[in-house]
Amino acid sequence: MASEKDAALAAVPTDSPTIFDKIINKEIPAKVVYEDEKVLAFRDIAPQAPTHIVIIPKVKDGLTGLSKAEERHCEILGHLLYSAKRVAEQEGLEDGFRIVINDGPKGCQSVYHLHIHLLGGRQMNWPPG
Ligand code: ADP
Repeated sequence: MASEKDAALAAVPTDSPTIFDKIINKEIPAKVVYEDEKVLAFRDIAPQAPTHIVIIPKVKDGLTGLSKAEERHCEILGHLLYSAKRVAEQEGLEDGFRIVINDGPKGCQSVYHLHIHLLGGRQMNWPPG
């Protein structure tokens, strides 16, 4: 089975629809834990921690990844981060959690629709791999 790194290296950075669009459009199922008019949060299909949630903007608007962010995205970027905090609270991660944004092949990004990983429920280590 391909590793996350292999998947990331094989992924082609693109503005085309991704698997996350299918989740937004309810074409494939996801375990949604939080939703508002701008963001959707759902459990990661391959969890790397007891709690592993992916938080995405419902409208991509060119945000294939953080490196593509422009001034107009500031509001949604803030909203995503604040939503991550709310989901962490909802999940009972009062002892701490980690937020990760992978960007590009070297950042191990495999899905080109900006997303925040919220990880918790175990002791994290530093540095990350
Ligand atoms: P990586 O695959 O290296 O973690 P990303 O940062 O692009 O790269 O993360 C994409 C995440 O989306 C992965 O953690 C992956 O497990 C998750 N994922 C992919 N497809 C689905 C799905 N259908 N439902 C939930 N999570 C998914």
